[in-house]
Amino acid sequence: MADTGSLLAAAVGPEHVLTGDHVPAEYGHDESLTVPARAPEYVVRPTTAAEVSAVLRVAAAERIPVTARGSGTGMSGACVPRAEGIVVSFERMDRILEIDTANHVAVVQPGVTLADLDRRTAEVGLCYPVRSGERSATVGGTIATNAGGMYAVRHGVTRHHVLGVEAVLASGETVRSGGRYVKTSTGYDLTQLLVGSEGTLALITEAVLRLTPRAGHGATVLAPFTAPEDIARAVPRLLAGGLDPLALEYVDMLTMAALTADHEFGLGIPEQVRDTALGYLVVVLEEHSTDRLEADVEAAGEQLLSLGAADVYVLPPAAARRLIHAREHAFWTAKAAGADEVVDIVVPRAALPALLAEADAIARDSGSVITGCGHAGDGNVHLAVFQPDRDRRDAVLRRLFRAGTALGGAISGEHGVGRAKKPYFLDLEDPAKIRLMRRLKHAFDPDGILNPDVLLGQA
Ligand SMILES: Cc1cc2nc3c(=O)[nH]c(=O)nc-3n(C[C@H](O)[C@H](O)[C@H](O)COP(=O)(O)OP(=O)(O)OC[C@H]3O[C@@H](n4cnc5c(N)ncnc54)[C@H](O)[C@@H]3O)c2cc1C
Repeated sequence: MADTGSLLAAAVGPEHVLTGDHVPAEYGHDESLTVPARAPEYVVRPTTAAEVSAVLRVAAAERIPVTARGSGTGMSGACVPRAEGIVVSFERMDRILEIDTANHVAVVQPGVTLADLDRRTAEVGLCYPVRSGERSATVGGTIATNAGGMYAVRHGVTRHHVLGVEAVLASGETVRSGGRYVKTSTGYDLTQLLVGSEGTLALITEAVLRLTPRAGHGATVLAPFTAPEDIARAVPRLLAGGLDPLALEYVDMLTMAALTADHEFGLGIPEQVRDTALGYLVVVLEEHSTDRLEADVEAAGEQLLSLGAADVYVLPPAAARRLIHAREHAFWTAKAAGADEVVDIVVPRAALPALLAEADAIARDSGSVITGCGHAGDGNVHLAVFQPDRDRRDAVLRRLFRAGTALGGAISGEHGVGRAKKPYFLDLEDPAKIRLMRRLKHAFDPDGILNPDVLLGQA
């Protein structure tokens, strides 16, 4: 009988199977700060759903664990494979199959990056408004993690834009769900079940994505605050006041200082304001006409001042781009500063002040430093935890996650559970829900070969 390597070579072509010393290190890790890298036995690089299906038939017959990989920009170790496993890398399934301008839909292979999709949709005045901070992330990876990003406050997250998928099941069968329509009332919504499933239910081989018209006029307003609790309190009131920002981001004082130093730019605000600011709101506005944009900027300024901002500044376009770029890459700044973990707890946005106050208390009690920035409009903050001692860090994370869930939130707003947050997820989530999820997993993948260690896995 042929060995696994030969069967995989027959499935995708010998030049697209890597094994042993030929597996580059990048296939063993993502950007998680805590999950150790692990090289897989095989990496395969298919180009079609038929090839993915052939790979999964080999894996199913031999019960070999399979981990899908997009660009490996995930933050939770969700694409870290098993040592005896197969990584299915979607790097060669990177074609935009169609931009359907009549239906405002893109049909794409899973390895298409957000950057490529943005370029192509811009050519026809449309956009795919999932603005994850790392644009080398793929459509497949962002669907599997239900990625969010800066524009979620206006446009929602990945699941609000995935209209349909083609996916290959663990058995090798291919299924299609949804399509180029925005509504359906036809049985269980398998598309939505696959969104956020972290490669544990099926491998996505094609996606139908909803596009939106691209608005051409934008402005960025920076509001420093001297009382941190005012910042979080301002967020629900700003939104309740009718403002519909494209992004509404929070950056605390330490994080802003680190970002401006790391990216070597100034905020262009008076020194005295900067020295007394304990945190900032960054409000990005976007409209289809300059008149409406100007009205929005004025309204935002008035509201921010009435909600306690020390002042408001409409940033020049180049300064705004630098600030947004730095904010989106805050993870690298935190990592360079020695952060031991970055978490992305989500709470109802009105509960943000309570979460931030609790984070401060946890930092004080544990002798840790916890700094943050995040998608304030979604109640989703990214907290960088500086606590090198593993046991103490574990206690800090447990308290933070408990605080988030007690406030009606969840452990992860957009990065996913993966391997890094699995122990906390399994401990803190309703056991009945975990049992139901395990039954769903079993229905899709009875032999448990798809990404067995993430989310629900026992290991
Ligand atoms: C600097 C930086 C900024 C970031 N900003 C954001 C942000 O603003 N918002 C946000 O949500 N995330 C953000 N992220 C996290 C990351 O970019 C997202 O989690 C992204 O969705 C991962 O995409 P990927 O292609 O790299 O997937 P990978 O990391 O390769 O994989 C992620 C998961 O998807 C699964 N998967 C991949 N492809 C498929 C497929 N075809 N079928 C089934 N499963 C698949 C993998 O098995 C794994 O479980 C950021 C990361 C970095 C480094």
